[in-house]
Amino acid sequence: MNSAAQPTTPFAETMVETDPARIHRLFEGQQPKALALRGSSAAERIAKLKRLRELMFEKREAIHAACHADFAKPAAEVEVTEILPVVAEAHHAMRKLKSWMKPKRKRPTLLMFGTSAEVRTEPRGVCLIISPWNYPINLSLGPLVSAIAAGNTVILKPSEMTPHCAAFLQEFLAELFDEDEVAVVQGAVQTSQTLLELPFDHIFFTGSPAVGRIVMGAAAKHLTSVTLELGGKSPVIVDRSAKIKTAATTLIWGKFANNGQTCIAPDYVYVHEAIRDEFIAACREALDALYGPREKLAENDDYCRIVNTKHYERVRGLLDDAIERGAKLPVGTVPANDDRFLAPTLLTQVNEDARIMEEEIFGPLLPILSYTDIEQPIASINARPKPLALYVYATDNDVIETVLSRTSAGGSCVNQAMMHFLHGQLPFGGVNNSGIGNSHGHYGYMAFSHERSVLRDRFSLAFLFRPPYNAFTRWFIRFAVRWLS
Ligand code: NAD
Repeated sequence: MNSAAQPTTPFAETMVETDPARIHRLFEGQQPKALALRGSSAAERIAKLKRLRELMFEKREAIHAACHADFAKPAAEVEVTEILPVVAEAHHAMRKLKSWMKPKRKRPTLLMFGTSAEVRTEPRGVCLIISPWNYPINLSLGPLVSAIAAGNTVILKPSEMTPHCAAFLQEFLAELFDEDEVAVVQGAVQTSQTLLELPFDHIFFTGSPAVGRIVMGAAAKHLTSVTLELGGKSPVIVDRSAKIKTAATTLIWGKFANNGQTCIAPDYVYVHEAIRDEFIAACREALDALYGPREKLAENDDYCRIVNTKHYERVRGLLDDAIERGAKLPVGTVPANDDRFLAPTLLTQVNEDARIMEEEIFGPLLPILSYTDIEQPIASINARPKPLALYVYATDNDVIETVLSRTSAGGSCVNQAMMHFLHGQLPFGGVNNSGIGNSHGHYGYMAFSHERSVLRDRFSLAFLFRPPYNAFTRWFIRFAVRWLS
């Protein structure tokens, strides 16, 4: 295999945990700064975001190197999926922050006659961001942009599985902020657990639903608010009215970018029986067009690797289990001298009881199931936990509306995959098992803000609700309950 495509270090299972004393010091040290930042102006916050954005451009080579060292991520993919979302998020926040921070006036209801009211956004305070390994830069700095825009201090714990990116983040953020404002804490589960014992003002967690439950349990002890950006199985429906080539090309890119290790990657496909064979042939062509001849795939620098051998074995296990239960591979694996390489693999005749249909795949395997009646995929999707994303391919609007209105998902694309992530005006988040709360743009700003109601009394009639009650006040209260409510 081409050495350029080979990650330089194995999985850092032995990453050193951060000393709890340092974590406590950082947490205490951020308290006064968080108070001071409450009064920070839009201009001050924008200046920080501007500097962060500029430093991203200055350090792009270092970002490429870190991502390559961790999982052979191609440079172009790093630009599109790690750098672009963060600089776009920062740019959007810089343009909109003044209006986001402006208190929103609320007109009085009849009962509130004589008062004025507004909603202010105030920083939550000292926040914790815990990020995953699959987009290590994007999913650390994206939420950080929102936290800074909202005027918070942050302790960031990146994933231990991408140690080069974690080291990069520590150095990068140390160049921009003092540790009493933004600090990076490296480590694995133990470090995470030490952090989770502290009474943060908000926790923004991105990762698996299983760990999401642990985070929410820990947050409950302090009644800390949480944003949980989780995962799950994101289904695709390809209707018989779909443009088959468009569906195949966008799905194949969405599935195999980052080697399938994307929270919103198409997890499995339901294709209408009438176009099944044509769709599979179009997927094969799309794979060839994107990644070239399969026998040379292991040398192709545009094809990423599975993050570590543990995950390779997990994904391989899903494949073996599906095959044992009767799955066929119209596009199968190819051998390679690399224990983190698995070729893009399409599976058909997949048993719905196979593990691959239960667990989030998070790797380059794409089960393709067929249906004859749209009720079948809808029932099957509704029988599973609500997904983070659901994609529908159709030109028939009735089918699109049926799918959107009869299912629930964090987000959806019609005739496209994954692009909703890049739309700065859309909320990005899951629902129930796939997450709680939203990120991106104004939604991200709100995740890191508390909405504070402020009512000013000028000449309200509140005094009429107070004792001593006489004939008039009793009449007035009855009148208010009936007519002013
Ligand atoms: P993970 O849940 O294993 O780890 C995420 C973070 O939690 C890491 O920093 C890790 O150190 C920490 N952690 C792990 N175990 C912990 C524990 N027991 N207690 C406290 N902290 C712990 O997730 P991952 O493997 O890094 O990422 C993959 C998962 O994340 C997938 O499920 C994917 O769908 C999801 N994801 C979701 C989004 C989104 O935006 N919704 C984005 C990317 C990934």
